[in-house]
Amino acid sequence: MIRIDDILDKASGSFSESEINLLKKAYVFAAQAHQGQVRRSGEPYLSHSLEVANMLADMGMDKTTIAAGLLHDVLEDTRVTAPELQKAFGKEVAHLVEGVTKLSRVQESSPETRQAESVRKIIIAMTDDLRVIFIKLADRIHNLQTLKSLPQSKQKKIAKETLDIYAPIANRLGMGRIKAELEDLAFQYVDSDYYEKIESFVQPKRKESDVDLKKIKRAIAREMKDNNIPAEISFRIKRPYSIYKKLQRQKIEFTQVYDLMALRLITDSVKNCYAALGMIHQKWPHLPHRFRDFIAMPKPNLYQALHTTIITEQKKMFEIQIRTRDMHDLAENGIAAHWKYKEADQQAILKEDQRIIWLRELVDLYKEQKNPREFLQSLKTDLIPEEIYVFTPKGQVITLPLGASALDFAYCIHTEIGLHASGAKINNRHASLKTILKTGDIVEILTTADIHTERTWLNIAFTSRARHHITRWLNQQRKSRDVTIGKQIWKEALSSRGQAIPRQKIPALLSKISRLTNAPLQGMDDLFGFLGSGKIDLTNKRLDKIFSSGESVSRGKPLLEKVVSSVAQKSKSGQIKLASEKGNMKLGKCCSPIKGEPIVGYMTGGKGITIHAQRCRYIRNGPLDRHRLFDMTWDQSLKGHFRGKLLMRGKNYPGLLAKVTAVIAELGGNIIKANVETFTDQEGQIRLILEIKNIGHLQSIISRLLQIKEITSVERL
Ligand code: MN
Repeated sequence: MIRIDDILDKASGSFSESEINLLKKAYVFAAQAHQGQVRRSGEPYLSHSLEVANMLADMGMDKTTIAAGLLHDVLEDTRVTAPELQKAFGKEVAHLVEGVTKLSRVQESSPETRQAESVRKIIIAMTDDLRVIFIKLADRIHNLQTLKSLPQSKQKKIAKETLDIYAPIANRLGMGRIKAELEDLAFQYVDSDYYEKIESFVQPKRKESDVDLKKIKRAIAREMKDNNIPAEISFRIKRPYSIYKKLQRQKIEFTQVYDLMALRLITDSVKNCYAALGMIHQKWPHLPHRFRDFIAMPKPNLYQALHTTIITEQKKMFEIQIRTRDMHDLAENGIAAHWKYKEADQQAILKEDQRIIWLRELVDLYKEQKNPREFLQSLKTDLIPEEIYVFTPKGQVITLPLGASALDFAYCIHTEIGLHASGAKINNRHASLKTILKTGDIVEILTTADIHTERTWLNIAFTSRARHHITRWLNQQRKSRDVTIGKQIWKEALSSRGQAIPRQKIPALLSKISRLTNAPLQGMDDLFGFLGSGKIDLTNKRLDKIFSSGESVSRGKPLLEKVVSSVAQKSKSGQIKLASEKGNMKLGKCCSPIKGEPIVGYMTGGKGITIHAQRCRYIRNGPLDRHRLFDMTWDQSLKGHFRGKLLMRGKNYPGLLAKVTAVIAELGGNIIKANVETFTDQEGQIRLILEIKNIGHLQSIISRLLQIKEITSVERL
């Protein structure tokens, strides 16, 4: 077990006496707070605090971080409060400890949501002060080291979270050593069978590999010595988790992992890195597709090295990594290395550090996401460490996660380019935006001003940046479409009742509707939005009443009769195709036409075209102007969701709505709104607004609904 003196010994060289005193004080404070507490492993709780602080000292952290490491669990697990902690140790320490503290248990949510919320909280706190994550990572390493004593379900959960979130974050921050430790500790618990399988594959090879590695090491060392290149060579067998990832990624068998053995050559300068590489390539053949120059093209986490795989005379393959001492330090410690140089202003360095900028941007993107699980899901996707490197036509390198499409590339260049992307040229050949990119591709994005982002693009987009922008754009579009449609519904409702609402009565009217519907309505646009999205339904009886307070006006010339001849002219030219996203076309709210059923178009007064179903009662016997009606067909490429309104009559017994909902869900329909009315004990009706794909979809839903024996009739509205 680590003792406080071990930590103080490590720190004594670099810390002043007052700094050492702070650590002593933190130790005493933590010891008192955790007094009597025992961990699951049976060890006194304080041993955990000491282990965490010790790791932080090993990482070269400052006094504040080590002190916070000693105290990191006092808020979560003891009676100590944040103000007390702040009073004793100051703002900084208290802030760090608060950062790593999980959300309290009193929150009303499921354990899973609470866990997700806690992780989210820590990650957001980390972007304010990176030291939060160092403490959390050290905490996690020790928890994994002692994971055996927890119940199996918890083991898996903690281990999985480590592989999904914490190890990738460590990787992104360039902390290779910590990342490797987290992965190897967690992997055994996440998939113990697979772990055993890999071990049983690797174990028998160890001895043989060891001999081979020693041999090649000697050969390389001799080569370097002959050419006066200083070289420090070490070797190892690939880590179980690296093997696992490789098997997963390349879908290969154990026997096909040919770079099980790896050597690392550390030299003194960049020049000598390339010189060493040249010598090795001269002496042994290498696999060209396995050669990677991360010196000229560092990874986003700033990792630099040359990677190559050679084949020896005995037909054995070895991966060789070549780097300088500085690069090596960077690969091992990453961003944590900033803390080693105490005289430097860490905050200033950090501001410039691409790795933290990257992480902060990423987290910012999701901060608004209310659902913590979605937050983590998005983060997970973006933390995927496998990367590809592609180029703009001008030669700029763009780094994308493996699996990214040309569309992701477009959004990575600029949001506007993403939104208007119409196609791509990959290596000078036309290609679809769906195309999955690979390293080395030169990608050019073609744009068109009036191209429209579609929901289906979400299936193509892989990066959360692209997904985020697409979703945001679709939501904006939907909102403005809802307002336009809502306006029309409102006008139709007023004119069908021959009413007008005077301007001065609008605020009162809005608050009345707001009261009746619980919808927050600040202005007419809000009302239109709710009407357009179907969240407020004017045919609702309670709402119907509001019109009785409106003032009747003599029915003047209906708005629709103001014919725009030029538009009407166009309509005679024949059939018009329907495009869903075109602003001048709207689906009639009165009949909600659905793709596939017969339709007609109606020119509205200068506003564009309203599409009605041929069965629509306004079309059949309404006061419409025949001259402005024309035939239409559906654009077959049109995708999206349509709304169908159904009225069902039947025996009103508890649970009928649930039965109906189940049938609809089973057939992939989506209920937007349901309204149950009861007439007598036996009779009732259900009004539904559904989201469906096309008329065939609706018909199959109707026929299934009719099979429910309590339902006597189903009618489309
Ligand atoms: Mn802890």
